[in-house]
Amino acid sequence: MSAITNHLPTAELQALDAAHHMHPFTTGNELAERGARVITRAEGVYLTDSEGNEILDGMAGLWCVNIGYGRHELADVAARQMRELPYYNTFFMTTHAPVIALAKEIASLAPSHLNQVFFAGSGSEANDTNIRMVRTYWAMKGKPSKSIIISRKNAYHGSSVGSGSLGGMTPMHEQGGLPIPDIHHIDQPYWWAEGGDATPEDFGLARAQDLEKAILAMGEDRVAAFIAEPIQGAGGVIIPPATYWPEIQRICDKYEILLIADEVICGFGRTGNWFGSETVGIKPDIMTIAKGLSSGYQPIGGSIVSDEVADVINSGEFNHGYTYSGHPVASAVALENLRILQEENVLGHVRDVAMPALHEVWHGLNDHPLVGETTIVGMMGSLALTPDKDSRAKFAMDAGTAGYMTRERCFANNLIMRHVYDRMVISPPLVITPEEITTLGKRARQALDEAYTQMK
Ligand code: PLP
Repeated sequence: MSAITNHLPTAELQALDAAHHMHPFTTGNELAERGARVITRAEGVYLTDSEGNEILDGMAGLWCVNIGYGRHELADVAARQMRELPYYNTFFMTTHAPVIALAKEIASLAPSHLNQVFFAGSGSEANDTNIRMVRTYWAMKGKPSKSIIISRKNAYHGSSVGSGSLGGMTPMHEQGGLPIPDIHHIDQPYWWAEGGDATPEDFGLARAQDLEKAILAMGEDRVAAFIAEPIQGAGGVIIPPATYWPEIQRICDKYEILLIADEVICGFGRTGNWFGSETVGIKPDIMTIAKGLSSGYQPIGGSIVSDEVADVINSGEFNHGYTYSGHPVASAVALENLRILQEENVLGHVRDVAMPALHEVWHGLNDHPLVGETTIVGMMGSLALTPDKDSRAKFAMDAGTAGYMTRERCFANNLIMRHVYDRMVISPPLVITPEEITTLGKRARQALDEAYTQMK
């Protein structure tokens, strides 16, 4: 077997990569033509690539590296755990200390009515768990017809068949026969693009009331749950108007619909609180977690379940589980990540230092001629690209072209920002310093300037 290491020339690595490695959400031809950027190291908020570029990671990987890169404590914990107990499962009446400790810690951080955790290897798997869990819950309560789960268009809840069905991404539904039956999508609370002449408040209320309309149209005896992210991340950091979530909570309570908050991005400090549900003031029955749970150092996810739902599910056998549910190494690493978040008061840093600095820099971009709006909650923000600010106009080019061009200019300026169609999104590591935020802002402005010149 020949060694493939960072020491090989970039072109060689890229050619081997294109020949043998199928990438998620990537066009194979583009990969073969241009070659993927090869990342070799990372430290703090900076990535290094095989050409020696130092790139500021404005996305914390995929919204996950909350404590930043290069924390050797997590590597040490992983190595220790691998030597002691590298693997055992949690099926058939077995358990181990790392998973017990992690579940207890998560329960102590979560809202007080959520005390049990069902582990998975990822956010997608956890949302698949949720589909089966809420349907099983209602069946066990003697209401098996309550099986429909309502979600939202342009939501992202994962890529498996179940979680991809919960998501409301048209390009995903066009491939592979999604969605599965009994998933229904309502419109999203995206005022800037879809609000027309309505005020944000009226629009938020109307979009929440779409949930009530859907429940009444399908029958409350048919609807099991509503799932949503407190703030839509991959959809473009869509921050709902303040009227939205209180109305959703009222409707879920009124019709006995379980509320699933997908906290895969919002959880573990991203919005300035431990969970986005606290930030938007809701009381979910289940929270989906992943990403920031281990800061991405190990693949792990899960569902935090309310006492009410857990009591029902635990009264029988839930025929569900993954080989890696509660994996000991992933659990130990996640626990160490939670220790760092708490003992280093990362949320305090977010609230007192990083958030004010990032908000100032972000909103400072609002005067750019390409920028229609800047929005941000905690450490997740987005800006809308537009040819005309006042009318909130769309580009004549295909949707996403302006975003793609801007993303490429970010790359060229050693900044990672992602685009969702023509919105640019940002979600840096929570530990980012004010100086690094200033650099982020300068690089973002430079990228916008260059994209603007290209578009003229
Ligand atoms: N839910 C949300 C809100 C996400 O943003 C993601 C991933 O981006 C997922 C679920 C899926 O998580 P994973 O990629 O770990 O399967």
